[in-house]
Amino acid sequence: MLMKSNRTLTECGWQALLRCTVLAICLVAAAHPVQGQNARPWNGRLCAVVLTYDDALNVHLDQVVPVLDSLGLKGTFYLSGFFPGFKARIKEWSAVAREGHELGNHTLYHPCEGKAAGREWVPPDYDLNRYTLRRIVDEVVMASAMLEAIDGRTLRTFAYPCGDRKVGDTSYVGEVMRLFPGARGVQGKMQTLDAIDLYDIGSYMISGQSGEEMIRLVKEGEAKHALVVFLFHGVGGEHALNVSLPDHWKLLSFLKETEKDVWVATMLDVCKYVKEARESR
Ligand SMILES: [Zn+2]
Repeated sequence: MLMKSNRTLTECGWQALLRCTVLAICLVAAAHPVQGQNARPWNGRLCAVVLTYDDALNVHLDQVVPVLDSLGLKGTFYLSGFFPGFKARIKEWSAVAREGHELGNHTLYHPCEGKAAGREWVPPDYDLNRYTLRRIVDEVVMASAMLEAIDGRTLRTFAYPCGDRKVGDTSYVGEVMRLFPGARGVQGKMQTLDAIDLYDIGSYMISGQSGEEMIRLVKEGEAKHALVVFLFHGVGGEHALNVSLPDHWKLLSFLKETEKDVWVATMLDVCKYVKEARESR
């Protein structure tokens, strides 16, 4: 009887211990709901954001860089050598690179598909239909040489002008893959670390959106654990595709406030990170 009592007591003790252990595990899991291998896939954050600014506008140097620097955020500036805001301010672009921003390759002459709808503005000499594969590759290689002379770097990302990736009927993506660690497209889409296509990285073209709308995209990126790329042209003016200064500031302030959850990095750093993450598997 005594033995039976003892055994019952022992069994009860084990059961209690097991219950406590299960309870403890549940409490730990509840306290850290997002801890886990894939919960924070972007450099320990929920999502990644890349701020890209196209075409070497004066406002990028006058308005955007000072704001980014004041918040300690880094951006990617896709420069075409042909644009006045580049040619007239080369030393300032060099200083931008020294601050840790990326000077991305956006070709020398910004050639686009001229026959597409709404492309009347494309000069015939810079219509991709009139290019050859050799010509676009030479142009892109020389744009990189020009940028290297400015920032001393040999590695940078590329952005397809107008998002066009063909010379006539021939794709030049293969050549871009040979020359760059990644390339930005213009299709508005979010991609997870596993699904991202490094040579067609989606981006959201900003033209008149409010700060709240842009912040909503970041929040969606957090929920989806995705990369969110913003594509800016004018900021407070200088381009038909424009965002107001207060709305731009609102987004950047939000990114600063949420930097524990949102990784803001240059496109180059994101591409390197994706590559390393894939190689380490
Ligand atoms: Zn452009």
